[in-house]
Amino acid sequence: MSNIAELFGSLVFNDKVMRDRLPAKTYKALRQTMRLGKELAPEVADVVANAMKDWAIEKGATHFTHWFQPMTGITAEKHDSFITPVADGLIIMDFSGKELIKGEPDASSFPSGGLRATFEARGYTAWDPTSYAFIKDGTLCIPTAFCSYSGEALDKKTPLLRSMETLNHQAIRLLRILGKTDVARVTATVGPEQEYFLVDRELYKKRKDLIYTGRTLFGAKPPKGQEKEDHYFGAIRPKVAAYMQDLDEELWKLGILTKTRHNEVAPSQHEQAPIFTTVNIATDHNQLTMEIMQKVALRHGLVCLLHEKPFAGVNGSGKHNNWSMSTDTGVNLLEPGDNPQDNAQFLVALAAIIKAVDTYQDLLRVSVASAGNDHRLGANEAPPAIVSIFLGDELTNILQAIEEDKIYKADHEDMYIGVKSLPPIPKDTTDRNRTSPFAFTGNKFEFRMPGSSFSIAGPNFVINTIVAESLRIFSDRLEKSKNLHKDLTALVKETITAHKRIIFNGNNYTDEWAIEAEKRGLSNLKTTVEAMPAFISEESIDLFSRHGILTETEVRSRYDITLENYTKTMAIEAQTVLEISRREIMPALAKYQSLLCESALAKAQLGEINADMEKQLLAAISALAGNLYQKAEDLENLLTQAKGVERLQEQAGAFCYQVFPAMQELRAVADRLETLVAAEYWPFPTYGDLLFSV
Ligand code: ADP
Ligand code: MG
Repeated sequence: MSNIAELFGSLVFNDKVMRDRLPAKTYKALRQTMRLGKELAPEVADVVANAMKDWAIEKGATHFTHWFQPMTGITAEKHDSFITPVADGLIIMDFSGKELIKGEPDASSFPSGGLRATFEARGYTAWDPTSYAFIKDGTLCIPTAFCSYSGEALDKKTPLLRSMETLNHQAIRLLRILGKTDVARVTATVGPEQEYFLVDRELYKKRKDLIYTGRTLFGAKPPKGQEKEDHYFGAIRPKVAAYMQDLDEELWKLGILTKTRHNEVAPSQHEQAPIFTTVNIATDHNQLTMEIMQKVALRHGLVCLLHEKPFAGVNGSGKHNNWSMSTDTGVNLLEPGDNPQDNAQFLVALAAIIKAVDTYQDLLRVSVASAGNDHRLGANEAPPAIVSIFLGDELTNILQAIEEDKIYKADHEDMYIGVKSLPPIPKDTTDRNRTSPFAFTGNKFEFRMPGSSFSIAGPNFVINTIVAESLRIFSDRLEKSKNLHKDLTALVKETITAHKRIIFNGNNYTDEWAIEAEKRGLSNLKTTVEAMPAFISEESIDLFSRHGILTETEVRSRYDITLENYTKTMAIEAQTVLEISRREIMPALAKYQSLLCESALAKAQLGEINADMEKQLLAAISALAGNLYQKAEDLENLLTQAKGVERLQEQAGAFCYQVFPAMQELRAVADRLETLVAAEYWPFPTYGDLLFSV
């Protein structure tokens, strides 16, 4: 592609297109809506809709859809064509403001976690003008929120948008107190780094586990894995490079600022990252990115695996969520400033985050809970399930000085909050700790716990809300202050003293940290089953309803959806294990054993010829095969029992503590068999085949 600048955003109804195509008055009204969250008048919507339609038709579109993000975690669309009949059997291409603003997809088949029983089944989608419309596969896609008719959120976007409003409101309050009167809006910004695996499509088709569950449920360790770490940042192989190039171009057309691409630690693992933007757009873009990553892979004879742990024994995939707050005047609130006001602003923002993460560590853990991510968190390549903050030595020392009423010497200058500026905090010294789940990286926090297949809406509405809650408490207090400098210092000091247990600059992967964390009273919620009750705790419900993010009903429905999703995933995995064991592995074992028998018998007929190999191997395989058969019976029994458990939380527990270990035990036997059976008899591609296929 010759001209990337021209290509970029060519399928997006972006600001430039709006400016070119909308009457000045309409454009201004729309900008206001986008920037300040003001409501759009219906007349204005009509004009916008018409301009969108004309533009989309010029680009070859024939349909439009409200593009939304139900609780399935992926996006949904229902296409309608622009055609509208007029007299004499003719049609015109039409699209009204009403159609732009509101849609009515049938909500009944999307997960609602019981909301459907309590409320009307019907749902509606509502245009989110803060995210640009775009064209995908000849269809004009309009980003929308998805709610029930009685107003309950049925999607991932609604609480995110609500949390952005709350964060804005509370941050502005605080900035006013600090004397910043020029700021009209504060927005959370996010840059998500996306990890993924690529495997050969033909091999993929032979793996029922990948097809049904997205991860391998069997597979012996190959002779070579990631031991030599020779893949990380390695030269990108031509086939992968062609894929990445194609992917980037598709994403650029959609106005997605994809920027970085490289090989990751595990063989056939890669990473892709865009330049950060507002959290709402970053979320939409990441959803689109995941969809297009998978689509483009097929064109290259590949399959893109977004599962958190597609392979045992090599690294899983995460999604590092880089988060900060930025003002409409272009200031990053987490940028340590070089003047006293900014110094105060930065330290207060930092204190707010420390308080938020410590107080609501369990909610952060909940926000990344899923069956897939359970395999990753706490495995030794990913952050543990314990939430802690990495700040780096310099910042930690500064906070310690504040706590101890000492004067921090920065570059031989005394430092006080709001009086002298902070010392420059070198970015490279803060970004060394790759093991921390929530790391300060110079001017943003990197939340490393989200799984690679996650919508980032969930983690971010939680971050936005808990930080807004800290800011609310701070503002309530400081608004009454008679001596701001004194009270500000006291507030920061108090906050650090109360919440410093959450700060940990060491290696999070060690067992010592788990012990130390327990001493500090930090949570270690190892599984989704252990984590989820925190979401329906009183504090959680209070928090989300206080800020208008989720009502109690909505919280409970999301709790149900997460656990239902967990049990369904586990049940599908267990069924897949049974199917592969009985219909693929056991028949292969029978065939190979008869080959060995034949050979041994033939040798016996010939007289005194050594048949030890056949006999010993046969004995070993027979024993394991019998064991495999029994383990499949056991698994099936436990699966049936788990399916029968009524209460959701207990059912999830049955899957976690009974079914899953049984799957693992069965797998261990099957994997051992894989190493004994002739390659040509083994019914599906091995780890070696999959990991080194591309
Ligand atoms: P890494 O070393 O982790 O790869 P990078 O500096 O490449 O770190 O940044 C990772 C991501 O963080 C990118 O998507 C980048 O755009 C994003 N990022 C940078 N600044 C901010 C910010 N202020 N707010 C949110 N995300 C940011
Ligand atoms: Mg990173």
